[in-house]
Amino acid sequence: MSSPRPALGPKPRLGYTQSPIERAAELRPDETAIARLAAQPDARAYVIGGDWIVTKKGAPLNDPLFAMDEARALAPATEMVFLGLLDGAARFGYSLAPAAVEALKTRDGFHVTDLRSIAVHGLVEPHHLPPIAEAKAVLHWHARHRFCPNCGAPTQAVQAGWKRDCAACEAEHFPRTDPVAIMLAISGEQCLLGRSPRFLPTMWSCLAGFIEPGEAIEDAVRRETREEAGITCGRVVYFHSQPWPFPSSLMIGCHAEALTREIVVDRAELEDARWFSKAEVESMLMRRHPQGLTTPPPVAIAHHLIRAWVEGEIRFD
Ligand SMILES: [Zn+2]
Repeated sequence: MSSPRPALGPKPRLGYTQSPIERAAELRPDETAIARLAAQPDARAYVIGGDWIVTKKGAPLNDPLFAMDEARALAPATEMVFLGLLDGAARFGYSLAPAAVEALKTRDGFHVTDLRSIAVHGLVEPHHLPPIAEAKAVLHWHARHRFCPNCGAPTQAVQAGWKRDCAACEAEHFPRTDPVAIMLAISGEQCLLGRSPRFLPTMWSCLAGFIEPGEAIEDAVRRETREEAGITCGRVVYFHSQPWPFPSSLMIGCHAEALTREIVVDRAELEDARWFSKAEVESMLMRRHPQGLTTPPPVAIAHHLIRAWVEGEIRFD
């Protein structure tokens, strides 16, 4: 007998997904076309300095878009990347040197903060999150690939910020994405959640870990669950994925069928892990747990993995 679907309300949007931007990758090699787009009055840039996102203070929401002249007036770009087109208007990522972004933190009219805060507190319109994630991840890659990993010579950004070339050894370098498996292991009417020491004291979430070279997603899900919690998993079902630009991950969300029950916590990775009933997790999702325990916010894929199971979308029986 299945329990009725709880009243969790409309499904919230998963953060950093559903980008409105057409990447228009075919334009990247065409320097003239990119320069012409950047000179159009409707061109805009997201301004980023390392982990810091620069926005213009507004009410009720901040504005993360700068006209190209406005961006240049802040400081020269250390790198620029063509993110794509929105209704024909170019969008760029524009990176500032650390000193330049520090100076903006105390300037009137600007709000300089990290992307997690922007996403969790909804400081900008949600449709800005995917292009900011795109810009942040590529600009982070540039900052760490100024020298060729093959021969050590300086590299040059080309293709509108989507490649770096080494003139010395002719190696070509492309932006990297690091896959992470994030999973909810399920045992009948219970699911496995863990706590990292980095979490807020009340928060419990899915287990997660980087997928290693030569490893399938499903194998990474089983390995991480076994390593972190001592639980053996059988079937693994893909759910959704999410760009996670901290700095350049792709979260690959899965549900897994737990075959064992006895938890052995790897204290080097987790503070704790335990089984939760559907009713308890539902109260956490609704922020009504008697001890104030919570799940991650809707911006994170863990929230959606947990909610899909609570709402009966995922079953292994
Ligand atoms: Zn080289």
